[in-house]
Parts: sequence; structure tokens; C-alpha cells
Amino acid sequence: MDLNNLTIRKFHDGLLKKEFSAVEVAESFFDFIKTKDPEIKAYLSLEKDEAINQAKKADTALTKGQELGILAGVPLAIKDNILIEGQLCTAASKILENYRAAYDATVIKKLKSANAVILGKTNLDEFAMGSSTENSAFQTTRNPADLERVPGGSSGGSAAAVAAGMAIAALGSDTGGSIRQPANFCGVVGLKPTYGAVSRYGLIAMASSLDQIGPIAKTAEDAEILFDAIAGKDPMDSTSVDSGKIQDSKNITIGIPDEYFIEGLAKETAMAIDEVIKNLKSLGFKFKKISLPHTEYALSCYYIIMPAEASANLARYDGIRYARIKETAGAKNLKEIYFSQRSGGFGKEVKRRIILGTFVLSSGYYDSYYLKAQKVRTLIKEDFNKAFEEVDVILTPVSPTPAFKIGEKTDNPLEMYLSDIFTIPVNLAGLPAISIPVKENNGHAHRQAGLPAGFQLIGKHFREMDILKIGQTYEKMFDN
Ligand code: GLN
Repeated sequence: MDLNNLTIRKFHDGLLKKEFSAVEVAESFFDFIKTKDPEIKAYLSLEKDEAINQAKKADTALTKGQELGILAGVPLAIKDNILIEGQLCTAASKILENYRAAYDATVIKKLKSANAVILGKTNLDEFAMGSSTENSAFQTTRNPADLERVPGGSSGGSAAAVAAGMAIAALGSDTGGSIRQPANFCGVVGLKPTYGAVSRYGLIAMASSLDQIGPIAKTAEDAEILFDAIAGKDPMDSTSVDSGKIQDSKNITIGIPDEYFIEGLAKETAMAIDEVIKNLKSLGFKFKKISLPHTEYALSCYYIIMPAEASANLARYDGIRYARIKETAGAKNLKEIYFSQRSGGFGKEVKRRIILGTFVLSSGYYDSYYLKAQKVRTLIKEDFNKAFEEVDVILTPVSPTPAFKIGEKTDNPLEMYLSDIFTIPVNLAGLPAISIPVKENNGHAHRQAGLPAGFQLIGKHFREMDILKIGQTYEKMFDN
């Protein structure tokens, strides 16, 4: 069985035609993970018994002649910052090393009731802070296309698992690019939904006004299937909304923002984007140049708002509620517990952001940093609003360069932050966006210097269908 070629759609068809059983497929995934993952290091934990039980349920339903939902029996991977009741959930942090979730995240509840099979939890940068998985306290995931390179981050484990054929699809989370950038680096599809389209209940919070859960998959069709399964209003997340299923627009005009084609954009990346534009033109899409003038402030704005929110969210790891007993053992008072837990439990990048965040929120600096950043955020949103009066969708690169080498940027956090320059404005504006692998005209995955390339489509609020459908039309061009 070619696990690498299996999409949700193909799996579902094969299951109905009895080409295989869900249990057989789940078993083959676990066998393959055993041989492949020691080199990729995508998974932090596996839950075989539970997965096989879920798969059995799908097989039984089929034998009984019950109608099978599209996700029934589908083997999925879940980023390890999304809670699954009874399972470890570490956020790739030492401080949560032994933490087991007390309840299911809403997205997990939905996947379980769709009878999906959850293989295990995937690696990430600690608390989703990073762009390479090198900030994980446990392991660095490798890019399946080139083992010397990073898979991107923070959902690098999920993207690598899907790209290497160790899961049919996965869930990630995206605060500043963490679904789209790793999808781009690994050559798979990644969708960041509109802020509020998917419940964040049970997602370990990073920056609550930016976080969204979304799918990583092999095709835009699979991304749509997963998105449909997890989207919708949830009483447990007051920012979630029910937008219903909005149909895709007709006669789409695609905007190309000047500000995204800057110095520092790799030549191969620019060429790949040109190729995509040519192909989409040949499919009848109209193009228009647009301007998003405040783009250059997005990164600075994000690195004030995100750490401010993150530092507040991380205050709960006080060593009492999520204790790492070992380190606390010698503590004589509350202060010592805090100190031993937090200094021993958090990694360097997390501490950096806690310090940044508490600084920008402190009295005397609040107005000049945090408040100002909020105003800039409004300007960035308005840029998009104006652009969307002229166009339906915006096309940009996902990252300025292809996947970089492991270790290349670890000593230079600013360099690392720059890899999200094209994805961050989207989170600040709360818009949906997707990263789609560029293909060559022969139908093969495009390679920039031997590495996968992707392009980003940004849609209007709650118009996921626009960007998903363009992605599907683009992919169909290469079907043989
Ligand atoms: N790489 C970005 C950061 O480090 C985005 C992270 C994310 O989207 N979770 O903050």
C-alpha cells in the first residue's frame, strides 16, 4: 500500500470498495512510522491502542452497512498543543513534560465523533514559539525533502508527518504562520482559517487574539474536508462564530501586493510565484496590482502584541497547577516554587518572549509599545479592507526563502522572526490564508534548489471557500 499517495478522498473510496480495512491501514501507518520516524522525528507520542479501537469502529460500521462519514477511519496526526483527553500534551515544553489532558479540545471532539483515527501527537517549537521546531525541548524534526533542513515551524512535526506519508493529514495551529510556513517548507497544503472560524477551546494558548487551529493536508480538497469537520461556533470559545458554508465567489480577481516582492526574497521563490501566476492566468483568473502600505510594520507590531499576550497566557504555569514535582521538591516557599519551575521548565525562546511581553505591558511602556502596536494593527487591517474592495483574493509568497538548514538561524532570533514576514500580517488582520505547493507543468512538485516551494492565497473574512477552490482548480491542472 502506498501510504504516501493516500489522500482522505482516496482512503474513503478504498474503504468503501473494501480494498482495505481501516484497521489494516492504521496498522500500516504504525509500521511505517516505526521505520521512518527515527530519521524524521515528527512524533512526540503515539497512541496505538486507542487508534486501532477507533479504526475498528469504522470497520464495524461499514460491515453493518451504516453510512460512513468522509473522515471515518482516516489516520491523522495532531500537533502536541491540542488536548486529547487522557493523553500527554506537552506543547514541546519541559514544564508540561508529564501533563495529561483532562478533556478533549473541541476540534478533537469533532474528529472523534467523525470517527477519525488519531495516530499521535506531533512535535512543535515550545509553546508554538518558533519557525523551525528547533525550539522544541525534546527533538528537532527534519524536513522529509532534505534531512539537513528544518521542516519549518511551529507545526513542523505535523507538516513533516504528512509530507513523509506518516499521516494522511494533520492539525496544526497558526499564530503568525505556524501552519502555512511548515506546509510551504515541506511541500504540503496548510490552511489557517479566519480568526473565529474554528474553536480554540483545548488549544494551549499562545497569543489568544491571533491563534487559530487549522488543517495540514496533501491536497486543497483534503484541507476543505478537515476544515468543514472542525469549523463552527462553540459555546466554549466566545470568539468562535458560525459563518455557515459560504460558497466560493465567481469571476475572481487576484491581487498581487507590491510590498511582498522585496529585497531578500529568494530568486527561486520569486520564479516559482511567477510560474503560478502564469498558470492561474491561463485558467482565466484576472490579476491586479495592489498595495498594502503598512506591511513593513507588521513584524514589529506582531513582536509586541504576541509576546504581550503570550506572557499573560504563560503566567498559569506556576508550578502548582502544572507541577513538575521533581524540581519543586526542595522549594521552601511559593517564590522558590515559581523560580525553580519557571527557570528550569521554560526554554530560552519562551523566556525571551515572557520578558518582552511583560516589558511592553509594564506601566510607563504600555502606551508607547502595546497601545501603539494595537493602532498599527488597525492600520494593517485597513490595508487589507481597502485591497479587498478591488480584489477577491491576494496571492503572495509564503516565506522569503525555501527551508533553511538546521542550526542556520538558531543564534539569530531576528533572522528567524523574518521567515514569517509574509504570514504574520494575515494573523494580525484575522484573515484566512492557505499555503499550496507549487507544481511544475509536468505535474511534479516544483523544486527551488531541490526544495519544495509554495504560494499563499489570502481570502476575505470567512471566505475560506474562495482560496480552497482556487487551490483545487490549480491542483486539477496537473491531474493526469
Ligand atoms: N514563527 C512565529 C513565531 O515564532 C509564528 C508562530 C506561530 O504561528 N505559532 O511566533
